[in-house]
Amino acid sequence: MESYAKPGSRLHTTAAAIDAFATTLDDVVDLRPTAPSGKTYLVTGAAGFIGSHVCQALLARGDAVVGLDNFDDAYSPTIKVRNVQRASTHPAYRLVHGDIRDGELLDQVFGETRFDAIVHLAARAGVRPSIQMPTLYDAVNVAGTTMILERAAAFGVEHLVLASSSSVYGATSTPPFREDAGSADHPSSPYAATKRANEIAAYAFHHLYGSTVSCLRFFTVYGPRQRPEMAIHKFTRMIAAGEQVTMFGDGSSTRDYTFVDDIVAGVLAAVDRPNGYRIYNLGTTSTIALSQLISKISALVGRDADIACLPTQDGDVPTTHADISLARRELGYEPSISIDVGLAIFVDWFIADRAVRHLPAEFRPLSSRRINQVVDLADSSAMALEGRAS
Ligand code: NAD
Repeated sequence: MESYAKPGSRLHTTAAAIDAFATTLDDVVDLRPTAPSGKTYLVTGAAGFIGSHVCQALLARGDAVVGLDNFDDAYSPTIKVRNVQRASTHPAYRLVHGDIRDGELLDQVFGETRFDAIVHLAARAGVRPSIQMPTLYDAVNVAGTTMILERAAAFGVEHLVLASSSSVYGATSTPPFREDAGSADHPSSPYAATKRANEIAAYAFHHLYGSTVSCLRFFTVYGPRQRPEMAIHKFTRMIAAGEQVTMFGDGSSTRDYTFVDDIVAGVLAAVDRPNGYRIYNLGTTSTIALSQLISKISALVGRDADIACLPTQDGDVPTTHADISLARRELGYEPSISIDVGLAIFVDWFIADRAVRHLPAEFRPLSSRRINQVVDLADSSAMALEGRAS
């Protein structure tokens, strides 16, 4: 395979001067796990919503992590800078600011560090923008993933965990969706098509090189740091600001919303349990209607939602509903955060986060009792996560 590496070229890191985005790295950092049994992982999309949580969880259990992210402008890069701040101070973490499509950079990253596995999360996410920008989605998600697969093969990485999506089930699959139902080949959007293409390309990689691959079909993930354009975050923001909430469809569409801690536990389990080539649903098996979701958020924020109904948008699907028996059986995956608990944690995070960003005082309605409850819940969720990881 052709090598693109140029001796002497530098990796960009945001670890020291994260705002500058382009600090050069003169010395190769001796990256070591902090636990005796710790391993070393590459996490792409490390500055994103899910990626930043995955990095922190790996570091917390003693692994070393190289995070790769190009801080793209799908949403504000400033948010991503905030996402990586906690991990950035960890001695076993290095953040590389770069693009998964930059072959030279990848050669340096893979050449400097031997990875036990790759968690590939970098992507253009989201259904609706993919309809406007299918070429960009294809370039990042399909060509970019091929670059990662190519380097994984060239540098002998034995295990790959890949972010797929419940959107591959499209609008015609019968719920609850099963991985083996053969129904994932009628995507409703370019985004879904790119995710299905990734799964198929990863199979060829597994077939050719014998590396193990776990493709994880995430079902709408939410929690602190959720992407700002996603429904729960957007509704919370609009209701808190007293703005009219735009609801696409009549509110009867349903989603299987999964709290980010549960997703992270599933990702870590998939990292730890290579099993040939696998596709796993990571959802909760519970669904909630859009109108009910908005009511719950409105109750938590403490304001009525002024709802404007608009027609269903292209690319939307009527329902997502995961069958998680395979992940339960093979990964020990057991989601534990209900939508009520997860929404309370999210709304409290949103309010605290907005307070940092000078939210007007009236939007700090947390009673101290609620804060204690949320802290207890967050602690028990973190403990459950640690228990599952160990
Ligand atoms: P995110 O946008 O917050 O994170 C993706 C990260 O990838 C971003 O930080 C972005 O800067 C980075 N990135 C994008 N293009 C890149 C490139 N060319 N090179 C390097 N980095 C690049 O999204 P997320 O919600 O954290 O999603 C993470 C993964 O999970 C994605 O693959 C997404 O498709 C998948 N997924 C997410 C959900 C969800 O509900 N959040 C559901 C299903 C699947």
